[in-house]
Amino acid sequence: MAVVPRLHLEDPPLRAAVTVSLDAARSHYLSRVLRLAAGDAVALFNAEDGEWRARVVALDRRGVRLAVEDRLRPPCAEPGPSLWFAPPRRTRLEWLVEKAVELGVGGFRPVITERTVARLQRPERLRAIAVEAAEQCGRLTVPEFAPTRPLARALVEEAPAALLFADEAGDGRPLLKALDGEGPEPVFLVGPEGGFTPAERAMLRARTTVRPVSLGPRILRSETAALYMLACWGAVRGAGG
Ligand code: SAH
Repeated sequence: MAVVPRLHLEDPPLRAAVTVSLDAARSHYLSRVLRLAAGDAVALFNAEDGEWRARVVALDRRGVRLAVEDRLRPPCAEPGPSLWFAPPRRTRLEWLVEKAVELGVGGFRPVITERTVARLQRPERLRAIAVEAAEQCGRLTVPEFAPTRPLARALVEEAPAALLFADEAGDGRPLLKALDGEGPEPVFLVGPEGGFTPAERAMLRARTTVRPVSLGPRILRSETAALYMLACWGAVRGAGG
C-alpha cells in the first residue's frame, strides 16, 4: 500500500469540503518529487484541527490544489519534555532538532551558558526541520522554539518546579530512576559541547528544584545526551508516549 504523504498545514483551518492551494515548494514536492496525480490522497494536519484526508484536485502552473474530505484523527495534546539545551553547532543542531521531534520533545528552550559557542541561527530553518520531522513521524503537533535566553534568565522566567540537569560529573541519580514519578512533561537541561563551568554547576546544584542526573559512565556529546534523555522518557512512558 502506498504511503500517504502528510503535510502540516495551519492555514486555512481544516474542515470538510475546504479547498487548499499549496505554496510553490509544497506543490513542487507533491507534483515533481512524489509525482502525485489528480485523485491521489494526502493527509493534512495541525494541532488545532487534527488530521484530515484530502485529495489532489488539480496540479497545474498555479500549483497543487487539494479538497479536504474527512477527519482521520481528532486533535489531541502531545505532552512531552521541555528540552533546555545549549545549541551545538549547525549540523549537530539540525540533527538534534529532527531527532528530538521524532522522540516526542514537547518544546525547545535554547539557553546560553558560559561555554555556549553557537547561537540559534536561522530559526525558520530549524522550524522547517521540526515541521518535516512531525510530518514524517506522525505527530499532530510541531514543538515550538522559545527565544534563546541566558540560562539564569530562563530559570527565573520559567521557574520550572523540577529540572533534571544532565551533569556529566557522574554523581547524579541515574536518569531512569530520576524519571520515576515525573509527570508527562519533565524539564531536561543539557549543557554545551564544553560542559558547564564550575560556577554554573554550583549555581544549578544550589537550587532545590534542580536535580542532577547521570546518563552513564561515558561523556556524551550534548546532542547525544539530549536524545538519550528523550529516549529514556519515551521508554518510561511506554508505547502510549
Ligand atoms: N564537559 C565535557 C563535555 C560536556 S558533554 C568536556 O568538554 O569535557 C555535553 C553535555 O552533555 C554536558 O554538559 C551534560 O549536560 C551532558 N552529558 C554528557 N555526558 C553525560 C553523562 N554521562 N551524564 C550526564 N550528563 C552528560
